Amino acid sequence: PKVYLNGDILAPDEAKISVFDRGFLFGDGIYEVMAQIGGQFLYQEAHIDRLQEGLQKIKIDFDVRLLDTEIPKLLDAAELHGKDCLLYIQITRGVAPRKHAYPNQITPTILMYATAQTLPDINDVLAQVVSMNDFRWSRCDIKMTSLLGNVMANEYGAQKGCYETVLFREGLVTEASHSNVFFVRDRVVYTHPENEYILSGITRKIVLELCAQLGIKVMEEAIAIEEVVKMDEAFLTGTNTQIASIKQWDDHFFYHGDTIEGVTKELQWAFKELKERNSTL
Ligand code: PLP
Repeated sequence: PKVYLNGDILAPDEAKISVFDRGFLFGDGIYEVMAQIGGQFLYQEAHIDRLQEGLQKIKIDFDVRLLDTEIPKLLDAAELHGKDCLLYIQITRGVAPRKHAYPNQITPTILMYATAQTLPDINDVLAQVVSMNDFRWSRCDIKMTSLLGNVMANEYGAQKGCYETVLFREGLVTEASHSNVFFVRDRVVYTHPENEYILSGITRKIVLELCAQLGIKVMEEAIAIEEVVKMDEAFLTGTNTQIASIKQWDDHFFYHGDTIEGVTKELQWAFKELKERNSTL
């Protein structure tokens, strides 16, 4: 693998940052992950726009358009040009003596790397999840590198052998440690509205578009934790997760067999077709 760091393409063990980088000291940075599928990044514009918005929210002065020329350089060096891979981008505020307030005149640190990875056409995992109180802060819309809350939540589920940990705040399901959460009841799709309690997932956005195309009604409404057992289906979305059916939520089973059905399945197939169209554009 190759690492892009501030304009240089390096071997991973050559890529070094200062211990005074605010990304390291404070988690003061924004990141993005996108998947190249069939020669193109899926929803690249949406990912890059979200990155720019995140930087603006925390006032890191960086124009993401610069990445248009830098990403191909990295992919060429890593021999991943046109190949299926995941691209990680991280922009931190930069290096400065440790003081909380934003320093003036600081140059952001730009890090990227890509790893070869082919996502399955359809995520056929029958996910088991556990629920936990969402103890994160109230700016979960910012895709920041300080992920300790998400890491702790994910670890809680991992210890129980679960695929994901789903979170609830004041009794309402928000999202999961690294994915968004959806429910289906009577063919109506429910998901938490876009606000400061969730990350506005790009896959979430894709699913909402697919629902519109398929004529499936969507309610952007948070579901109360006690209502979960009354739902017909539940699924997770994320760049890496794609669309993953939730089979078991704590002690509740949404279904007992080994086949994914219903609206979740329809969306998985529609998503597969969308990816195929992406590769022929
Ligand atoms: N929610 C959180 C907390 C995440 O970390 C992620 C992805 O990393 C998502 C949702 C899903 O977002 P996306 O579909 O853009 O990958």
